[in-house]
Amino acid sequence: MRKPLVAGNWKMHKTLADARALIGSICEGGGSIEGVDVLVCPPAQLLFPMAKAVAGTSIMMGAQTAHEALEGAFTGEISVPMIKDTGCTHIIVGHSERRHVFGETGEQLAKKVSAVMEHGLTVVYCVGETIEQREAGQTNDVVQRQLSDAIHAGIPADRLLVAYEPVWAIGTGETATPEQAQNVHQFIRSKLAEIYDQPRSESIRLLYGGSVKPGNARDLMAQPDIDGALVGGACLVAEDFLAIIGAAASTSVTSV
Ligand code: PEP
Repeated sequence: MRKPLVAGNWKMHKTLADARALIGSICEGGGSIEGVDVLVCPPAQLLFPMAKAVAGTSIMMGAQTAHEALEGAFTGEISVPMIKDTGCTHIIVGHSERRHVFGETGEQLAKKVSAVMEHGLTVVYCVGETIEQREAGQTNDVVQRQLSDAIHAGIPADRLLVAYEPVWAIGTGETATPEQAQNVHQFIRSKLAEIYDQPRSESIRLLYGGSVKPGNARDLMAQPDIDGALVGGACLVAEDFLAIIGAAASTSVTSV
């Protein structure tokens, strides 16, 4: 059975004082929830203090992106080893905002995934279609291309999570229905079975992201191929994030 994982992508939110208050509440309420892995991905300036705040709990830390190079003249960027230094175990690669706002290409994302792997961290690799692509019936083609851009059999399956995040559902309040999300997750798993093999494809956790809220989290995560959530807006409010973690815990109990 795959253990559910709930990840919070804080994006460019929270100054130190606000972040301390948020992480304190998350640690209090979520540090002891059993049957769910919890990952928080604060902005870069908060990685060290947040790592200190979660020390001694089971909450894991992740970064939202990384540069593919080890070091060099890349003003404003941080590298995978720098992120690893902070105590992070995970790095999100290919978030739709990185693809669409910052213009990151498949080629670049492949290098980022390799860099994450080289340094022994786990990647949360995001894929997802725009509304135009969905309406043109291209969802599976887009997701397949995004997967094949960066994921190959040389990537250790035990350090890979894939997040399906339809672009039209991110930060919009519009969510894929559980059925729409499950269909794409099932498709992703079938492609992972081609890249790896059936057993490994079944071991990889697939997260859904796109306006996940306390009210829709359980129905989404109850789907057979949805193993957790990548949460944006709702992870900034401790009560909401904890409710989503609780929803994941309830799906893990009912599927035992
Ligand atoms: C995200 O940023 O990955 C995300 C899913 O955001 P939201 O939950 O706000 O849609």
